[in-house]
Amino acid sequence: MSGANGYSVLFEPVKIGPVTTRNRFYQVPHCNGLGHVRPQAEAAMRGMKAEGGWGVVCTQETEIHPTSDLGPYAENRIWDEHDIPALRLMTQAVHEHGSLAGIQLAHNGYHAPNHLTRAPVLAPSDMPIESAYPKQARAMDKQDIRDLRQWHRAAARRAREAGFDIVYVYAGHNMTLPQHFLLPQYNDRSDEYGGSLENRLRLTRELLEETREELDGHCAVAFRFAVDQMMGPDGMQAAEEGRAVVEMLAELPDLWDVNVSDWSNDSQTTRFQPQDGFQVPYIEFVKQVTSKPVVGVGRFTSPDLMTSLVNKGVLDLIGAARPSIADPFLPSKIEAGRIEEIRECIGCNICVSADTLGVPIRCTQNPTMGEEWRRKWHPEKIAAKGREEAALVVGSGPAGLECAMQLAKRGYDVTLAEARPEFGGRALRESRLKGLSAWKRVTDNQLWDLQQRGNVQMFTDSPMTAEEVAGLEIPNVFLATGATWHRDGRGRSSLAPLPIEGLPAFTPDDIMVNDLPPEDGPVLLYDDDQGYMGGVVADHLAEAGRKVILVTPGAIVSAFTDLTLEQSRVQTALIEAGVEIIPLHSLQSADASGATLACTYTGRSRHIPCASLMMVTSRARDTELFDALHDGYAGRFTTLELLGDAAQPGLIADAVYAGHMAARNFECDPAQTDADWFRRELISLDDMGGK
Ligand code: ADP
Ligand code: SF4
Repeated sequence: MSGANGYSVLFEPVKIGPVTTRNRFYQVPHCNGLGHVRPQAEAAMRGMKAEGGWGVVCTQETEIHPTSDLGPYAENRIWDEHDIPALRLMTQAVHEHGSLAGIQLAHNGYHAPNHLTRAPVLAPSDMPIESAYPKQARAMDKQDIRDLRQWHRAAARRAREAGFDIVYVYAGHNMTLPQHFLLPQYNDRSDEYGGSLENRLRLTRELLEETREELDGHCAVAFRFAVDQMMGPDGMQAAEEGRAVVEMLAELPDLWDVNVSDWSNDSQTTRFQPQDGFQVPYIEFVKQVTSKPVVGVGRFTSPDLMTSLVNKGVLDLIGAARPSIADPFLPSKIEAGRIEEIRECIGCNICVSADTLGVPIRCTQNPTMGEEWRRKWHPEKIAAKGREEAALVVGSGPAGLECAMQLAKRGYDVTLAEARPEFGGRALRESRLKGLSAWKRVTDNQLWDLQQRGNVQMFTDSPMTAEEVAGLEIPNVFLATGATWHRDGRGRSSLAPLPIEGLPAFTPDDIMVNDLPPEDGPVLLYDDDQGYMGGVVADHLAEAGRKVILVTPGAIVSAFTDLTLEQSRVQTALIEAGVEIIPLHSLQSADASGATLACTYTGRSRHIPCASLMMVTSRARDTELFDALHDGYAGRFTTLELLGDAAQPGLIADAVYAGHMAARNFECDPAQTDADWFRRELISLDDMGGK
């Protein structure tokens, strides 16, 4: 089958030191909030990637020692032999599908706060730990360095025992000791581990040599290296020391896994970096310097781009974290020529947010992500229908489309009714805001799928009343009617409407249909939602030439976007766009002269003249149809279910998940679906024999 569609080069095997991957699809290490806390879930998730065709599937960063304790985050651990069985679950799940398993060994130095272990925090030099906690890392002495090398060696030995095929030395994301030693910003040593590049690289070289020695030709040694910090001359640059490092170590690892740092630069969102393959200019030199295979990332979803990068000699292996999350079956779909079926990553970093919260990974495009073990959800498979024949879905936002799509896949005859002239709901509307155009991929992928199916009837311009729904006599009704932004100020700070008179008040719903505030005077944007929307709308309005004053009760703009690695970019962009930011204030009232604010802490009030208000506060659930059906037609339906934002306003990812869940649970044993809420991995009460 491979070769039939012009992408055969992607399915060639590649030798990586002593092992060979069956194809060029390489799932690079990525965090997922499962890790050592939920090893069965992690194994099932990684196994799914292997089943979907990824030739290599790696762990996330794996702490090698208690002095690298990233708790409470759920990374992997290989502190001692007790961690081996959990990791072996993952290698077995990956091997079952003929793929290679890689492990990213990590010592996180001053990035690991050691809150759980209370072990000393280690760094090349004395420095405060990375997180805002009044504790310092100590400069490692020679014994510390010797210890570290032993820990890494022992971890490599255990990794081999756990069945891994590829073992990493990790110097990336500004997160690990080898990189901290390498970068002068962290390393002010005057011994043989500091000063010249050769000295700063000494630790990395030792770790690579010793890992290779320990693995003794049984596993490949990979080196993950950030060639550029994207700080210009203030940091490492690909054209200078980045290249020099690759030249100095060229043939030492069996594989170069190259990217940029820090994590927010490596995993940029489409909002701030719309270009897939954006890392290519930084890493394209690497293959000219080494004869070893090279893997790189950059939100690759297009097989044309992948093929051209291989053909041009930029990459040997197509690295992916997010595209493999959004579609674990991306390689198989390319191989089978089913390109249109790929659920493309939209670059929203909701996956990252879960890791940052220490909860199982989730994904806007792939509602099954992180649910492979708990709910046994498979991204490509769903149970066939039961006794019922037909279903009606009202509303075509991300929840309605996902529900309709999965119901159709199960074999039901599906009717989909949408009030507006276009399908897509909020995903489509939000994609019209500045920076969010890639979010349209959610709707595009769902619609394409629905349009392929013969058992779906879809209607736009069909605002359904209760009478009309009842008249259709379809026994199973799913209502995904969405939510509408409040105009009256109800939000986090006030559950009651605010006294607003004499000023026009706009909401994000207006902006999405291009109904903008007047140009003659500042618009005061009140962001009491503190998600992504306030910052997006402020940016959108500033670009449209409005003078924007952003007021938020939070200390920073769009606080939520800290979880998606975007917050500093959001605030920087707004400052650059001339938006005036007033943090730590809530809106109290407004009249024709402007708005009255109150300080979050003192309550002191302040008057800000403005010509209009832009309210980003909270949303009202659109339940009118559900209420009318529930109250007026009780007993007429086998199923009457409210879902998505109409049931609980949240992220687009939540709406997709809700649509998916409704379709999966339909006609399933309610006892089982209830039990799934409680399926979890319990902590062993074994005290490890007192050891
Ligand atoms: P979600 O995120 O839950 O999918 P959205 O707000 O994106 O919600 O989408 C809800 C969709 O439902 C909107 O496109 C809206 O036009 C549509 N809708 C709301 N009420 C009705 C109705 N009575 N009949 C048909 N469509 C409706
Ligand atoms: Fe891509 Fe968003 Fe899914 Fe992450 S959550 S993989 S960024 S679509």
